[in-house]
Amino acid sequence: MIFICKVSDIILSLQTKNPILHILTFDIEEWYHLYNHPERYLNGQRGKYPYSLEWETNRIFNFLEERNIKATFFWLGVEAERHPLLIRKLIDYGHEIGVHSFSHLKIGKMDKMNFKRNTEKAVKTIEDFTGEKVKSYRAPNFSLTKKRIWALEILKELGIERDSSTVVRRQFGNQLLPPAPIIIKHNGIAMQEFPVSSLSMLWYEYKYASSGYFRITPYKFLNHKMTTAPYLMSYFHPRDFDLLIHKKIGGNPYLKFKYRIGTQHAFQNLNRLSENIYWISLQDASQSMNWEKADVIQI
Ligand SMILES: [Zn+2]
Repeated sequence: MIFICKVSDIILSLQTKNPILHILTFDIEEWYHLYNHPERYLNGQRGKYPYSLEWETNRIFNFLEERNIKATFFWLGVEAERHPLLIRKLIDYGHEIGVHSFSHLKIGKMDKMNFKRNTEKAVKTIEDFTGEKVKSYRAPNFSLTKKRIWALEILKELGIERDSSTVVRRQFGNQLLPPAPIIIKHNGIAMQEFPVSSLSMLWYEYKYASSGYFRITPYKFLNHKMTTAPYLMSYFHPRDFDLLIHKKIGGNPYLKFKYRIGTQHAFQNLNRLSENIYWISLQDASQSMNWEKADVIQI
């Protein structure tokens, strides 16, 4: 594996009090989980095409093995039930398994009781397969906001230690989330928070290093921006590399845009970038942090 670490990165890293962190994560869901209610948008197309999660996740696994990269896989509980052997394989090869809710409902679509029930079911399903405690969580659609901050208390109750359900520069309390891991304190609990990398585009959260945003962003820009960032949190889905859906799915222009644009180059670009980036899992990032020096947001 080639790791190019620039002197300027090291200086920047020292200035920001913590090591360079380039974190690679995958949200493991089927291609139709793009929506909370896929049947409403896909007009019956969901049943027409084969599931691709297993095939694409194995492709991701092989790529990580070739490059000796360890990553974090956030699983939906409903998909964990369908693919226990795949989860076992990821664990056996040193990847971290996190949780991404049970059925891909945004936090805001549930009250506290339902959120706890949904998340607990997913956590228990995954822990039963792995025999290990799940410690990392990501909400569907990055739906943790100040209004839904109560979710952190429930996550803590369930044994979650680190969260990645927010986005860099999102307004949280009186401040914007920084491009760095932070601690969010609320009602007596403290949660490690790893916001997803994002650029400021007026009011829009442009998550350039991840998923569909990555697919439509020119490689040259990605290479410069991602390799020089002292903190990088990227996420992808199996569908970001799914060429079958890319070719076949019909529907309205929005659907075509979401599924097709840039899919054919996504894997190649991730592979090329990985020559210049030393990716680590969320678990390893958490362990290498000096948390005493991290910024704290009290809400
Ligand atoms: Zn998701």
